[in-house]
Order: sequence, then C-alpha cells, then structure tokens
Amino acid sequence: MRHYRAGGVSRREFLAAVAAAAIARDAAAESAAPLWGGPVLDCHFHLRADPKSNLTHMDGCGVTNAVILARDADKDASALQAKYPRRIVWAAATDITTPGADARLAEAVKAGAVGFGELKFHVEADGPELQRVYALAAELRVPVLVHFQEVQHYAGEGVWETGFKRFEGMLRKYPNTKFIGHADAFWANIDASYHEEAAYPTGPIVRGGITDKLLGDYANLFGDLSANSGNNAMSRDPAFTADFLKRHQDKLLFGSDCSCSDGHGGGVSQSNNPAASRMAGKCVARETLSVLKQSTSPAIFQKIVWGNAHRLLRIPA
Ligand SMILES: [Zn+2]
Ligand SMILES: [Zn+2]
Repeated sequence: MRHYRAGGVSRREFLAAVAAAAIARDAAAESAAPLWGGPVLDCHFHLRADPKSNLTHMDGCGVTNAVILARDADKDASALQAKYPRRIVWAAATDITTPGADARLAEAVKAGAVGFGELKFHVEADGPELQRVYALAAELRVPVLVHFQEVQHYAGEGVWETGFKRFEGMLRKYPNTKFIGHADAFWANIDASYHEEAAYPTGPIVRGGITDKLLGDYANLFGDLSANSGNNAMSRDPAFTADFLKRHQDKLLFGSDCSCSDGHGGGVSQSNNPAASRMAGKCVARETLSVLKQSTSPAIFQKIVWGNAHRLLRIPA
C-alpha cells in the first residue's frame, strides 16, 4: 500500500483510499480465479469458527465466492459478508424440531440470508416440520437445501430427511418452492438400480434413476454437487456424467461441503465420515471441480460453478 506523508492527505481521504483498496483486492480475488478459468461459487460451505479460516479454504482451492451455511441470523456470517461483500453470501438453517422455527428462519432472511439450509434433521423429508419450511421458503422466495440420507455412515448416526423415493409428492405439492437436493440418497438415486444397499454406491450407472427423472420433470428441483456424495456420483461412470451434466446444465450447482483446512486436503476433509474415506487427504472442492472440468464444456462448467447459483439465489453476478 502507498504511504501517505503526514498532513498531505486528510483522514477522510485516507480512509476512502483504504476502503477503495479493500474493494479492489476483493474484486481482484473474484476475477483472477487462476485455477479454474473463471470465478467459482461454492454453494455449500459451512461457517467456520474463525472468520479467517473460511477465506483460507476458499483461496486455497481457487473458490472465489461462497454461500456460507450458518444457523439462524448468525452475526458471524453477516460480519463475514460485510467484510467481503463481493465474495460472501449466506444461508440459514434452524432447529426445525423446536417451536419458533418459522420465526427464526424469517428473521434470518430479514437479516440477509439468501436461502434456507442446510436442513439436516432426523425427520421425514415429507414430514410436517419440513413441510412448514417448504411453504415458508416459497413465501419468502428463497430456496431450501435438503440433506437426504437413508443409510447411516456409522452405528448410531441415524438417518436424515428420509423418503427421497417419494419426494415427487413434495415437488408437486409445493410448486413455488425451489428445492436444492443434496447428500447420499439424492445422488445414489441417479441410478435406477439403487435400493439403499450402500451410502455411496459404486460402478456403472443404470440409467433412468429417480433423481435424473425428477431433475428433468420438475422446474423447482435443483442439485447440489457437494460432498463425497456428489463427487462419488460424478466419478462412477464418465459417459453417464458427461450426459447428465449436459442434460441438467441449468439445474446443477457446484458445492464442496469440504471441511479440509487449507483447500489442499489438509486436516480432515469429510468430518471423519468413515464411509467417505476415498476423500481422506483430499480437498473435496478441488476434486469435484476437477471432475466437472474434465467432464463438460467450458460453457456448461461456467453455469454449474457460477451462473446457476446466482440465478437461483438471486445474487447479482
Ligand atoms: Zn449435508
Ligand atoms: Zn477442502
């Protein structure tokens, strides 16, 4: 930064220059994006305890922008957005199993949340708790990010947002709600032969799976490619992946759900999930961006890592 001689510049001018420099740095980080050929938005990034570590991960893996997943009207998420207005937006979850969930979610949207999520609770995906959230999401015009999981990763974990195979009922019942599907059951069901035998099935994909069908049939369903679930699904069958990305190019969003410390696979990448050991020592963001990059055209890649999320979350690009 330039040095100002005492008395040469007013305090107000100095502060304006400092602010301008900060915005320029912010914009530079956004547009440089050397790793992936353009800016990248991570739609699934859990707020970290220390504000700086959020940026350490993003910068480490070449992610320019992120939707920070927070809880309720989180002051840390707002503060991070205030500090990096061109790089950060945030979404909010709340405990939907306790009274007042609607009010807390509405409050979060008032405070700046651009979506609801991630919603991960031991409830049915078409149960009363979530149906209230789906209705509120339509009313407040924000999308809702749902974690679907029917197979536990370790004894005692339990299952989350169950009943994906009958989720079409919710897509019909709430046509004005924008649903973002995520996690094991959402991605395992791209395969028509899947019957909950594993959290992360492997091998070639039998076409005609429920997820593929629902993405094609319902304008209000989107897919979040984050975590081992999304990466695993896109790594099973290269020919399927290329077609799938092309078919749903306007419905898919890049996300990482990575918990590695540095954007290079340091620390723990999938929160010690034993079923996701294929991601150990790897940064999920880097791995998934690599798969997407090699599986599709630059134009479709750009939609999936940037354009689709901006349109869906109504973020000015
Ligand atoms: Zn999740
Ligand atoms: Zn990472």
